[in-house]
Amino acid sequence: MSKIDSDDDFTEFAGTVFWPRSTADLTDTTRCPACHSRLRSAVCSNCALDLRHPAAALLLTASTDAAASLARRTAAPP
Ligand SMILES: [Zn+2]
Repeated sequence: MSKIDSDDDFTEFAGTVFWPRSTADLTDTTRCPACHSRLRSAVCSNCALDLRHPAAALLLTASTDAAASLARRTAAPP
């Protein structure tokens, strides 16, 4: 089985992506999108993810999309 070639595949660059503790971990741009540590520069001091790399933006997009899906799942009916 071969790996699917996709322009939005960030996994090889991002390395280990931690499971979020809450949807806030998925949308908080003051935290690393991979490990959720507090960011102090453009390179995460915990996991070394370089936020200037396009893959980091793709990971953030995937995270915010997931948060939006979870919000729709739990939203009260009108
Ligand atoms: Zn990190």
